[in-house]
Amino acid sequence: MSYALVVSEIRRGLFEDRNLDSIGFSNLLQRNITLLIPEGDYKINEKFVNNIIKVRIEESSFLNPLNMITALEKVINLKGNPDVIIFTLSSSGTELASYASGHFKLPLITDVSGYDKEKGIFLKSYYSDKIFGQFKLTDTGPFIITVRSGSFKDNAVEKASLPASETLEEIQISKNRTFIEYIEEDSTEIDITKAEFLLSVGRGIGNQDEIAGYEELAALLKAVISGSRPVIDKMWLPKPRQVGTSGKTVKPKVYFAMGISGAFQHIAGMKDSDCIIAVNKDPQAPIFQYAHYGIVADANKLRDNLKVIMKG
Ligand SMILES: Cc1cc2nc3c(=O)[nH]c(=O)nc-3n(C[C@H](O)[C@H](O)[C@H](O)COP(=O)(O)OP(=O)(O)OC[C@H]3O[C@@H](n4cnc5c(N)ncnc54)[C@H](O)[C@@H]3O)c2cc1C
Repeated sequence: MSYALVVSEIRRGLFEDRNLDSIGFSNLLQRNITLLIPEGDYKINEKFVNNIIKVRIEESSFLNPLNMITALEKVINLKGNPDVIIFTLSSSGTELASYASGHFKLPLITDVSGYDKEKGIFLKSYYSDKIFGQFKLTDTGPFIITVRSGSFKDNAVEKASLPASETLEEIQISKNRTFIEYIEEDSTEIDITKAEFLLSVGRGIGNQDEIAGYEELAALLKAVISGSRPVIDKMWLPKPRQVGTSGKTVKPKVYFAMGISGAFQHIAGMKDSDCIIAVNKDPQAPIFQYAHYGIVADANKLRDNLKVIMKG
């Protein structure tokens, strides 16, 4: 039977919303949907899928690629080869998908954000969404894919009936790799998700020495300072200040982005802000597509001018 196998994204006991993108993509392919999920009390809208297969393992073991391969082998023995195995684009989804691709020797396309059903063309971003690449599978056989959050969820629709559900027989847990714990971030840090005004800085500000000037401006504007991932990776700001898919999702009244290009991983974390003001020296910077107000300027010069104005 032809079907899409959706490997669910589970984090700390929660069935993540981005699973709807995997489900939506399966609908675009017009395949029956089988959802693979660890056994447990996960709140899922069951009507979105045709079958549910539960695996008798903990969340942490489910995220271990070595166990995932065993679970996938069991599903294939039970149901036959799926036409596609779908993972979410996340740190664990990407890891699991690449293991599965290597193990089953199946083609893998990562970070798919669009699909042209008529032509069978997949869309994938390069250079922070400045360029999109188109891909076609040369074979009609099964493949593996990771899908970008927010790309296909509108195609997730309820089915007419509740899904069939079954549980896989016990699987042998791999001892080669063990999950230890999630590490909470420093609770003494300011919570940027609660700030009404965020002044966010990106790699475009140049170097760490510039941060002090932005902190000064933030204080004058009564804003809280946050940043894009490179700024955090370079340790110009601490990790809890990171906005984006691997940082925090924020929704302040004002999001003032300076020297940030607007990569989708960043946009995903701030696009729902009430008012987005972007400053970038490149008029083609993708962030301008999301900004309510855009300023083409040198961020550091504008910062210094604003400081003068604010000081009156
Ligand atoms: C799995 C994964 C997760 C990720 N998670 C996140 C995340 O959570 N958050 C995140 O932000 N990124 C994340 N990224 C990284 C993301 O893809 C981008 O690389 C990153 O957002 C780029 O940061 P940036 O805009 O600061 O830098 P760049 O993309 O380098 O952009 C710098 C911008 O500054 C402009 N500029 C340069 N000089 C000036 C100047 N003098 N004045 C004004 N503008 C100037 C440039 O025109 C450019 O647009 C992730 C990537 C991956 C693969």
